[in-house]
Amino acid sequence: MPEARVKCPTCGRLIEWSEASPYRPFCSERCKLIDFGAWLTEQRGIPGDTAPPQSGEEPAPPPEHPEPGKR
Ligand SMILES: [Zn+2]
Repeated sequence: MPEARVKCPTCGRLIEWSEASPYRPFCSERCKLIDFGAWLTEQRGIPGDTAPPQSGEEPAPPPEHPEPGKR
């Protein structure tokens, strides 16, 4: 019997429909969570972002003003 394969709804990757794919029809837990999150978002009608974008850059601290002559 040929092994059934399905496409991951999130990323479109082919996975085996078997015990080897515990997250089917998703390829991974990550894709499952992504799809589930999208579904929740649609249900609630929340537009777009829930998490702030991570640029990886922290805001620069204000420049220090050394006080000359204070010694
Ligand atoms: Zn996937």
